[in-house]
Formats: sequence, structure tokens, C-alpha cells
Amino acid sequence: MRWSDFYLFTTREDPADAEVVSHRLMVRSGMLRKLAAGIYTYQPLGWRSMRKLMEIVRRELEVAGCVELSMPAVQPAELWQESGRWQKYGKELLRFEDRHQRGFCFGPTHEEVITDLVRRDVSSYRQLPLSLFQIQTKFRDEIRPRFGLMRGREFLMKDAYSFHADGDSLDEAYRALHDAYVRIFEACELDYIVVEADSGTIGGSSSHEFMVLADTGEDAVLFCKGSGYAANVEKATTRLAPPPPLPALEEPEAVDTPDAGSIGAVTKLLGVEPAQTVKTLVYESDKGFFAVAIRGDRTINEIKLKNVTDSLWIQLAEAPEVERLTGAALGYAGPCGLPDEVQLLVDESAAALQSFVCGANRTEVHLRGVQWQRDVGRSRTVDVLLAEPGDPCPRSGQALEGCRGIEVGHIFKLGTVYSSAMGCTFADENGQEQPMEMGCYGLGIGRTVAAAIEQNHDDDGISWPLPLAPFTVLLAALNPKDEAVVRTAEELYEQLRRAGHDVLYDDRDERPGVKFKDADLIGIPVRVVVGARSLEAGGVEFSLRSDREKRIVAVDELLAEVGAVVGGSSRV
Ligand code: ATP
Ligand code: MG
Repeated sequence: MRWSDFYLFTTREDPADAEVVSHRLMVRSGMLRKLAAGIYTYQPLGWRSMRKLMEIVRRELEVAGCVELSMPAVQPAELWQESGRWQKYGKELLRFEDRHQRGFCFGPTHEEVITDLVRRDVSSYRQLPLSLFQIQTKFRDEIRPRFGLMRGREFLMKDAYSFHADGDSLDEAYRALHDAYVRIFEACELDYIVVEADSGTIGGSSSHEFMVLADTGEDAVLFCKGSGYAANVEKATTRLAPPPPLPALEEPEAVDTPDAGSIGAVTKLLGVEPAQTVKTLVYESDKGFFAVAIRGDRTINEIKLKNVTDSLWIQLAEAPEVERLTGAALGYAGPCGLPDEVQLLVDESAAALQSFVCGANRTEVHLRGVQWQRDVGRSRTVDVLLAEPGDPCPRSGQALEGCRGIEVGHIFKLGTVYSSAMGCTFADENGQEQPMEMGCYGLGIGRTVAAAIEQNHDDDGISWPLPLAPFTVLLAALNPKDEAVVRTAEELYEQLRRAGHDVLYDDRDERPGVKFKDADLIGIPVRVVVGARSLEAGGVEFSLRSDREKRIVAVDELLAEVGAVVGGSSRV
């Protein structure tokens, strides 16, 4: 492709709203243009990288036995009502009506549509298993679209779905898709880990995320090198060692604790450790009120809490509500004697304490020597603890380490959540109707390309990993008025193209400085510069964007040099 014929306009200006380097560099290199918040045009340069990724994804999914199809972006409300998600999905679902006042949404994901398809086409165990995928535009009305393609509102996703007669068959497909993802992210030369994940509003039992490691990642991950355990912090568990026990008392003792509505103040006043206390927080959700008791030194993981309470939403109750329910000012809530309308949840960290200090549900009063069995009413023990770096690994007991990641892929075992709700059944070998077991597998196309830039850039611009580079070779003619330079460059351009290389030929009438700066910015892996000086030195200047070490290569040896770096043809 000749630059003069291409549609590529770089800019030196950083976009005002760009907080991460990939967003900045995609806009500056002419890959991406914002139309509205979280809605972008992929300019030709950006689209080429997306296409390269899509080709890798298609190739590996087909190896895993997935078949491509394409489903509508606009989906009828009825399907979402059938699955129960019309209510559950909340404001991320962009809803609208057609001229007949029928409800529709712009698909944020396609479980409903594909389940509807398969229930119409498939009726027997003989037709199973099936795996289908598409690469398609999704819309999610994200509360905070940001970071360019990382968290857009309109974005491209590869979504795959599998249908099975039994759990073993689902396990097999899940493994095959897991392995396909591994091959995809390896092929993209990304540094990533696979972590255990929360399954969110999609539901289901088991789920893993593929995280590209980057300090700017929105997700926190905990991992243990010893055991191989790795989990999104939303899901991570630990096995806390209990603190030294406090002495047991015959019965709880009320102690005045003026101005001690915080764990810090109470522990100082009573001479105990935060870990020897229980703090109680009152939450409100669509399922009612919950008092959540957790060890005083720890934090509640609200995602786990939302899951264990099976809530659509959950948030801390307002102060007046807490005062009404506990009969005490904020900071003095405790697990003893709560009214019936409040369900008590006890985190495992708190449940492990034999005798502890807690709020008395009386303003400026705490209890000490409290014991669960003896002093506290009905409760449910749960895991709602936010695990932290340094906590013991649930498998090995070694300290967990923390890092940040960008979630580029997410795979789930859905089980029969959707097939049961929507009547997607098949007749088994005995003629019995059964709901199909399902899996679903998402991969963000734009987010993965952006993540590749987060991992591969320097102060001057992008340094593409070869497989995702929009072009693999940048050929620049430095003195477009010098006949020998132009002749050589044109010849090389033809040769490289004929050999199947993906070449961007900078034939613009621009100063060398501009060409070099642009070349660094757009980050094409192999650079070939033809100039009067290089020809005098016996050839063309050859360098890689990754190290920028330049050397002169004879014109008739160039193809072999390029081939040695790039391999064979690489055209999209
Ligand atoms: P997140 O937690 O980041 O919102 P999610 O769990 O909602 O992601 P899934 O529903 O599993 O994401 O979607 C599958 C994949 O689609 C994700 O792994 C991610 O790569 C991509 N994706 C999700 N939301 C966005 C978005 N707003 N912009 C770009 N890509 C996205
Ligand atoms: Mg999301």
C-alpha cells in the first residue's frame, strides 16, 4: 500500500481524554477516531490490526471445532424477558422501541439469540455437541466508557457458544476453547495469565478470565507462583490464620466506648487487635437488608456479597436506615439482637473467632467476650472477604502476590441456566427431554489490540508484535525527487509485494524527519529506508522497530533479510 493512496493521518497531539498510552497512541497514529463517548471509527490502519487479530481468532476457533455464523445486533425484548435478563441487566442494556412500540435492545451479548436459534434447529442428542461463534458489534451503555477501545460502549467481540447433552461434553468443549484462547494470545505474543473469575450477570458455575498483564489494567489479580493459583480479586479466596484468641467470658460484657465508632478507636480503647473484633455493616439490596459481619481488619468484597445474596443490586444502607434497624448511631452495629427484617451474614473470617469484640447496637457501647453459638441469633456463614496481596494462598498457604491485568477474554460454563429458562431441550437416548448444557466464550477484539499496545510501546510510539502489526514492513523513500532513490524504492515495493509481504510504502513528499517520526509512532516492525546516502553506502537501511539498530543491506539481499524476520507472506 502506498501511503499517498492510503487513508492515514497521524497527529502529534494527545487527545484530551486519553488516560492510557494505548488510547493516546491509537489516536495519534491515525488508527482510531472518536465519534461519541465510547463510540469509535476504526480508521484503516486500526482496522488492519483488528483484522489480523480476527484472522488469528478465526483460525484457532476453527481448530477447536467452532463454526462461524453472524447474528443480529438488534434483539427483541421478548427473548430477554424469557431468560429473565430484561430486568437483571440494568442500565448497560440499551433499550428502544420500534415504530410499533415493540421493545428491543442493542445486543450486549448473544446468549438469548443463540439459545433461541439452537432450540429451533436442534432436537436430538445425535445433533450435539455444537459450538458456534461470531465476531460482531456489541453495545453496552457502560457507566464510564474510557481508555479508548478498552472500555468502549460500542465494541467488537468474538463470542462463541457451545451446546451439549451432558456436563462431560461441556467440560471437553470448555477445555478446547481454553486451549484455543491460549494459542490465540500466544500467537499475539502477549504476556498474559489465566485466572479464576466471577461469572457476573451471565450466571453459571465455572469461569476463567484471560488477563494481559499491564499496570494500567482495570482488574486486580492475586496469584501464587508455588501452587499456580490465580484469581481475579473479585473472586479470589484465602485461608486466613486466626488471631490470638481473646479470653472467654461467662457472658458478653457491655463496655462504654464513647467516640469510638471506628475499629481503630475501639481497638485502641480496649487494647485488642482489629483482627480480634467483628465489624458489622448494613447493606440494602433488592432482596432486603443484610447485616454483614466480618473480621475487623478486613474489607467486604461487594461482588461476592451480591452473588451470595443473589441480588440484582446491593449497596451500603443510608445512615438513617442503619440507625432505625440497629437502634444505634453509625459505627455501633453488631450481630446480636438484630431485628427480623435484617438477615445476618457472617464472613468465614469472623465466624472463626471464638470470643470477640463487636458493636452492641447501642450508641457508644461495644460488647466483649461475644461467642457466636451462645450469643448470636440465626446467621449464615459465607465468604465475602476481599482477599489481598500477602494473604495465604488457599492452596499452598504461601503469600499471594498481586498484579494488574486487562481482561481480554472470558470463558464460562453456563450449565442449563439459559436452556432451562428458554426451553432449549433435546431428546436423550431414552427419548427424555433434557435442557442442554451450555458454555459461552467471549474475547474482546479492540480490547486485545489496545492491550497489545499497552505491552509494546516506548516514548516514540507503538512497537507492534509482528502478528498484530497493521503492516509488517515500512518502506520509506527519503528523497522522493532523487531518481535513483525512487527507482530503487519502487522496485523494492514491487518485490516485497510480490513476495506476499504486507508493505506500507511511504512515498509521500515529506521531510525525512517527519517520515522517521511517523514511522516510530505507527510502529511497523520492519523498516527499510532508501536514501541517497544509503545507496552510496551500498544499499538500503534496514532496521527493526523493536531495537532500531540500523544496518545497510544490499538491494538484492533485502527480500531474504525481510523474510528472515517476518517469515513468509503476512498479508491481510
Ligand atoms: P468487564 O468486566 O471488563 O466489563 P465483562 O466481564 O463485562 O468485562 P464479558 O461480558 O465477559 O466482559 O465480555 C467478553 C469480552 O468482551 C471481555 O473479556 C472483554 O475483552 C470484552 N469487553 C467487555 N466489555 C467491553 C467494553 N466495554 N469495551 C471493550 N471490550 C469489552
Ligand atoms: Mg462489563
